[in-house]
Amino acid sequence: MSSYDVAVIGSGPGGYVAAIRCAQLGMKTAIIEKYNTLGGTCLNVGCIPSKALLDSSHHYEEALHHFEEHGIEIPGDIKLNFQKMIERKGAVVEQTTKGIDFLMGKNKIEVYHGMGSFKDATHIEIASDDKNETIEAKYSIIATGSKPSTLPFIKIDKERIITSTEALSLTEIPKHLIVIGGGVIGLELGQVYRRLGAEVSVVEYMDRIIPTMDGSQSKELMKVMKKQGVKFYLSHKVSAVERNGKEVVVTAKNAKDETVTFEGDYCLVSVGRRPYTDGLKLERAGVKANERGQVEVNDHLQTNISNIYAIGDVIRGAMLAHKAEEEGVLVAEILAGQKPHINYNLIPGVVYTWPEVASVGKTEEQLKEEGVSYKMGQFPMRALGRSRASGDTDGFVKILSDANTDEILGVHMVGARVADLITEAVTAMEFRASAEDLARMSHAHPTYAEAVKEAALDATDKRSIHS
Ligand code: FAD
Ligand code: NAD
Repeated sequence: MSSYDVAVIGSGPGGYVAAIRCAQLGMKTAIIEKYNTLGGTCLNVGCIPSKALLDSSHHYEEALHHFEEHGIEIPGDIKLNFQKMIERKGAVVEQTTKGIDFLMGKNKIEVYHGMGSFKDATHIEIASDDKNETIEAKYSIIATGSKPSTLPFIKIDKERIITSTEALSLTEIPKHLIVIGGGVIGLELGQVYRRLGAEVSVVEYMDRIIPTMDGSQSKELMKVMKKQGVKFYLSHKVSAVERNGKEVVVTAKNAKDETVTFEGDYCLVSVGRRPYTDGLKLERAGVKANERGQVEVNDHLQTNISNIYAIGDVIRGAMLAHKAEEEGVLVAEILAGQKPHINYNLIPGVVYTWPEVASVGKTEEQLKEEGVSYKMGQFPMRALGRSRASGDTDGFVKILSDANTDEILGVHMVGARVADLITEAVTAMEFRASAEDLARMSHAHPTYAEAVKEAALDATDKRSIHS
């Protein structure tokens, strides 16, 4: 029987990063993945393929609606080859997952393909089509991620009533896509299909989209996506989803308690994801999960069984790839005797629509709820020379800082490339910068980043220069 210092179950961004860091720190490491390709949800059916389709559909939309204003004229009709777009996405995924194979080899990590399950706290069985084997591991890291969740009355048929996984590999563009859930997945994939010509209706239970982000971002994104033709139905409680041949009918109650129906040809169910531990046989190792199915961990991400740790989507907290990665590194370093730390308040959140939406720290709603006195500075993208040059004038940067100390407490952005811009805010907050610190730093001109400086000037004492 092969014996390891560490066995990682699951090869998503949590698992493969944990394995690499363990190997870097000199531990004999194995990784177990039930699918044929490594990389988990993120690389195979999540972050990477969704961004590939967002980028491709963005180019299409630019060609259709914005080239002309730049003086670019295309003779004849612009044609969409959807199959090629999906094939390109597949190629991007393949390249990326192969990159993980390379990294496993480079770091001398033993890769097992098969379903991992605990035999006891130090032995893991791996079942694949052609063999069953057992390995021994001093420490294990559960990194089994998550799966799409649904509502009790919905039967996902994977053809017309679908999750993000199927939505990333459709063979035709829906005529009318009904999206249940105006969160990250619903808006990113809803925008992809709107750009490609589908009618898109987003049915959301809460009174705003992206409800966990700052309210100003929900408002701005909805305003822009409405202009792009997406229809929104807020405060709607879905009660039934039925399929009749090629038609899907969604029934919901609106805020006035009236019953409304939506008829379309596809329904994307994007109401969140659930932690995934099916088949892992946690009970054989004695590992506890809570009522939501999350593996329970302490501050060191250690489960109730001292040699077993858990990271990523399968435990509490934001279901984000970069959060899973930080946790993978943290556990590896703890096992090596180091004292790492994660500041969960500074894990940024991004929605990759266009304009992008990015956030870090506290929202205005949270500060109000916590009774913190704060100052707010805001700067509109439309006032930037860079935005006018590219034609990306929607959005803003908003900075919230402590009313007494001026320390930055939250930064919320909507606009072009803010997914990349948010890192400036993370860096500043990690060093506990004040709004005035940011306001006094030189920002290259012309850049979108100037909006950060201007919002900081506005937060400091309303002395923004360009608005
Ligand atoms: P996962 O990536 O889910 O990986 C878990 C792995 O464990 C899987 O490969 C699974 O097959 C394997 N596994 C499970 N059980 C077993 C077992 N018993 N034996 C062997 N293997 C097992 N996050 C972002 O930060 N940015 C984004 O842009 C983004 N976009 C997304 C888009 C979509 C459409 C979706 C669905 C998600 C997106 N996410 C994004 C979320 C991100 O994918 C997850 O937060 C991230 O993948 C979690 O990583 P993980 O390692 O915890 O788990
Ligand atoms: P989500 O939590 O972002 O959004 C779910 C939405 O569905 C919420 O707005 C919620 O109010 C709504 N909802 C819940 N029940 C409903 C009901 N009965 N009727 C109508 N609406 C209902 O979840 P998601 O969009 O499915 O994404 C799942 C996870 O994947 C998220 O945690 C997210 O962090 C991650 N993800 C991240 C990215 C990114 O970082 N860009 C992209 C995609 C997915």
